[in-house]
Amino acid sequence: MELTIAILLGIVWSQIISHLGASILLHRHYCHKQFKVPGWFEVMGLSMLMIACIRTPIGWIASHRMHHTHSDGPEDPHSSKYVGFWKVLFTTWDIKKIPTKYAKDLFKNPKLVFCHRHWLKILIAVWVISFLISPYFFIGFALVPFIFAKIGFGLLNTIGHRTPGGANVAWLNLFIAGEGYHKNHHENFKRIRLHKFDTGGWLAERLFKDYEPKRKTT
Ligand SMILES: [Zn+2]
Ligand SMILES: [Zn+2]
Repeated sequence: MELTIAILLGIVWSQIISHLGASILLHRHYCHKQFKVPGWFEVMGLSMLMIACIRTPIGWIASHRMHHTHSDGPEDPHSSKYVGFWKVLFTTWDIKKIPTKYAKDLFKNPKLVFCHRHWLKILIAVWVISFLISPYFFIGFALVPFIFAKIGFGLLNTIGHRTPGGANVAWLNLFIAGEGYHKNHHENFKRIRLHKFDTGGWLAERLFKDYEPKRKTT
């Protein structure tokens, strides 16, 4: 019973992480600069991403930008045609070298640099502390989001690219915060809401579409 509750709560928590952390902050804001976000949202979203083990966000963002430039070609870091379906599904692919142009701006952001340097230490701390609190807490808080993020990313890069240039696959929305309309995303990566069932896009529009940070006066 406790295990079922831990898994169910873990799935709800995973949906929150995938909407706020992965879709809105990591993908839409950092990768594509669709809108600006306040500093507190960055801290909150990055914390979620560290829990779900995105590893280095700078690596994620740079490789995703590379993916957009070379979609489904030999230089696409996770093209299942060139890398292999299972490797892409289980996210066991690796990139030898990411051209600096994809990450230049990212190293100017101290929050991203901090996560880039310390993601492994943070992850180990999260896993150990949550396990010490309770094994069920560890399952719901850290393990389920980790698995959920792996599944979502693997499905996006395989099923979401079953046709070159990206595919619109409605059921993928359940795993990747409404971003199952991946063809629409590739056609225009600045478009926030990809479809009426794009829950992440809907939320992003409500939260940040018109957000402008206050200028510091000296
Ligand atoms: Zn894609
Ligand atoms: Zn993208």
